[in-house]
Amino acid sequence: MSVARHLRLCSRFSFQRRFCTSQCATMASRHGNTKRIQGLDKNVWVAFTSLAADPSVVNLGQGFPDISLPAYIKDSLVQAVSVDKMNQYTRGFGHPTLVKALSRVYGKVCGRPIDPLKEVLVTVGGYGSLFSTMQALVEDGDEVIIVEPFFDCYVPMVRMAGGKPVLIPLRPKSGQKTASSADWFLDPEELARKFNSKTKAILINTPHNPIGKVFTMEELQMIADLCVKHDTLCFSDEVYEWMVYRGHQHHKIATLPGMWERTITIGSAGKTFSITGWKLGWSIGPEHLVRHLQTVMQNTLYTCPTPLQEAVAQSLLLNYELMGQPECYFTSLAEELEGKRDRLAAILREVGLSPVVPEGGYFMLADVTALNQNLSHVGGDEAYDYKFVKWMIKEKKLAAIPVTAFVGEESTKTFEKYIRLCFIKRDETLDAAELILKKWKSSGSTG
Ligand code: PMP
Ligand code: GLN
Repeated sequence: MSVARHLRLCSRFSFQRRFCTSQCATMASRHGNTKRIQGLDKNVWVAFTSLAADPSVVNLGQGFPDISLPAYIKDSLVQAVSVDKMNQYTRGFGHPTLVKALSRVYGKVCGRPIDPLKEVLVTVGGYGSLFSTMQALVEDGDEVIIVEPFFDCYVPMVRMAGGKPVLIPLRPKSGQKTASSADWFLDPEELARKFNSKTKAILINTPHNPIGKVFTMEELQMIADLCVKHDTLCFSDEVYEWMVYRGHQHHKIATLPGMWERTITIGSAGKTFSITGWKLGWSIGPEHLVRHLQTVMQNTLYTCPTPLQEAVAQSLLLNYELMGQPECYFTSLAEELEGKRDRLAAILREVGLSPVVPEGGYFMLADVTALNQNLSHVGGDEAYDYKFVKWMIKEKKLAAIPVTAFVGEESTKTFEKYIRLCFIKRDETLDAAELILKKWKSSGSTG
């Protein structure tokens, strides 16, 4: 290209760019965002997944498995797509084979028949289940009690539905070092004070992300009693339901007296079968509530991918037959993860960090106070854990998630010395993390 033509083109493009920029600025000032999404533009996953995407970083941040999957899960998808009609739309509220499989599995777990057509909604991941629940059941001005720390999307979802999040913190047992997730508890009196005539629902998460707490039957009964007393709903996020470690048991609040009719239980294929990229989830509950979630579904997403639903259905049915046997993925995965949990806890202790050993789920908190990492040179007004994790990714090539992403402003001080690490990882990934931490320790800045 001649120099003259090049310059002509450049000046035309730069004129177009300048014109476009000023047009865009005008449009942006005239068409701002809706009130519904005001202040919701920051997101921990958006921020930290891009930082951890560098292949030289060992990623114990975002919760996704890098372990190998049972062959039947992948084979069932290949088989599903090979049938022509499986590549077309299916029933909007959930593919018939999948809702039937869910009703069998959860019918057995809950000890009651579950109507596959009326008491189940399949949607896009646990996220979709949470979203349809909020949109369907939370009204302008309703208060929704949320246990803090909380999976970060709970607060924005309540807000987008017009509701008001009311936070109740899990508190460390007084005077104790919180070595286990069981050392975090809800103060019954503090919780009781959060309920009032505006309370629409309480949103709980067991096993808990990020702490790993598995709520005991007594704790769930205390919550259930308040729901019944104040006639509120309960949204129970149980996406990690199968990942519970020895000595602990997952209980479904929906099975307590007076709770089925007021509870939506949220589950996820991504967590159940270690296939987070498939993005299928479900809400289970009584027809009088699920029907409203179905209204949201039919007018928003309408349906989910048919072959994925068919494949998840086949994997559920296979494991339904194996329930109670060691080969059942629902239990074998937890067994595999327990070894990884113990290994990560040992690595952390060895380098002088204090892990909060989880009873369930696949995350572990680590208290980084002992590292004494001075980050005063890092600018910005972010909480210490945000600065720490960004610094650790850059300088140590190890990714985690800052725990204050899961709390409201008032609890920042309690949690900003914690980071969250994900341990559903291959041995090689944990080896690489161990190497980084040991080198860090021997360089003299840890422990
Ligand atoms: N709830 C919790 C507690 C989670 O950790 C996640 C993470 N993915 C979800 C819901 C969303 O699940 P999904 O990936 O199936 O949308
Ligand atoms: N649930 C996963 C976690 O807690 C991932 C969430 C996400 O990437 N949006 O890490």
